[in-house]
Amino acid sequence: DVTTLPVQLGERSYDIVIGPRLLAEAGARIAALRPGARVGIVTDRNVAERHLATLEDSLRSAGLTPSAVVVEPGEKSKSYGVFEQVVDALLESRIERRDLVLALGGGVVGDLAGFAAASLRRGVDFVQVPTSLLAQVDSSVGGKTGINSRHGKNLVGAFHQPILVLADTDVLGTLPLREFRAGYAEVAKCALIDNAPFFAWLERRWQDVFGGGPARIEAIASSCAAKAAVVARDEKETGDRALLNLGHTFGHALEAGAGFSSRLLHGEAVAIGTAQAFRFSASQGLCSAEDAERVARHLKSVGLPTRIADIPGALPDTDGLMDLIAQDKKVSRGSLTFILTHGIGRCFIARDVDPAAVRAFLDRER
Ligand code: NAD
Ligand code: ZN
Repeated sequence: DVTTLPVQLGERSYDIVIGPRLLAEAGARIAALRPGARVGIVTDRNVAERHLATLEDSLRSAGLTPSAVVVEPGEKSKSYGVFEQVVDALLESRIERRDLVLALGGGVVGDLAGFAAASLRRGVDFVQVPTSLLAQVDSSVGGKTGINSRHGKNLVGAFHQPILVLADTDVLGTLPLREFRAGYAEVAKCALIDNAPFFAWLERRWQDVFGGGPARIEAIASSCAAKAAVVARDEKETGDRALLNLGHTFGHALEAGAGFSSRLLHGEAVAIGTAQAFRFSASQGLCSAEDAERVARHLKSVGLPTRIADIPGALPDTDGLMDLIAQDKKVSRGSLTFILTHGIGRCFIARDVDPAAVRAFLDRER
């Protein structure tokens, strides 16, 4: 019941291992790569309370030496201040070049710990133990790490690939349902980009994915494999990797519009953004209205939002949203780049989207 996905990036390769009980096996798997190493664990308080002891016991019984730095949960921890605390704590634990940094947590911890690993002593190897669905299917795969600046999200960071990813599917049992749903938006996104059969499978099996068990492992493995394949083709995001931004241009504008608050989780913004990318494509005659409806229907059936009106509280008006879209990093030199679609599983990069068409679409969406 454990799936191993080998990832090949240039000369380097590593495994993404997905399945139950991996936290308890982490020690043996890590000791096989770095016998006797010190392991500087970075985690957040929510995850530490539930899962840190299991991991530490497993590492100790495999002859490794764990230490842990626990940060506050939430996006605010992707900051210069917390980054400094984490790096100093790792130095105090005497993590050397031959040792390891381990991220135990969601995407926040993965991005923060990965960047700390990339910077500490000019680069220490790093293991991802993602504990949120979003981290298991998305942020732990691909090597992007970093923190936020007052100028925007993820603006300071490094590409630093892990040497191992252990996605323990049992750990998801303690993840709040709302967070699980938000991560599911990225699963659906992966299917919608280029895998229509996977999307049809999700339509039939999503309840089993939410329920746990083999269908969940299969969905996580398919999403990881899809992301790893895109990343292997385009590690530094010069081309194809942009497809993973399906739903993210509209989504980021909505997230920023909601002030990156708990009113709208990233995955919820991606769900709305994905539904919008399909509706916008339909409005431009690129894809059928039936496909756009089918996508929205599925996202809605799992309990995700699909429209701006689903977001509680006030949001910027159309002009405000257009400004936020223009600020998004995917805008290059005046023209808007969007991931649009010819239908389910048939997304493509559209580099010259007319801002006036987007504005008119957003007006109709309100
Ligand atoms: P998160 O790390 O904040 O985790 C969400 C919440 O769930 C937190 O409160 C956390 O404490 C809690 N949690 C995590 N695992 C848990 C568990 N097993 N049991 C109980 N609670 C648990 O958020 P996220 O959604 O995992 O990740 C979002 C972050 O990921 C953002 O900062 C985003 O920028 C980043 N991201 C990075 C990449 C990348 O390629 N590096 C890709 C996508 C997203
Ligand atoms: Zn995302």
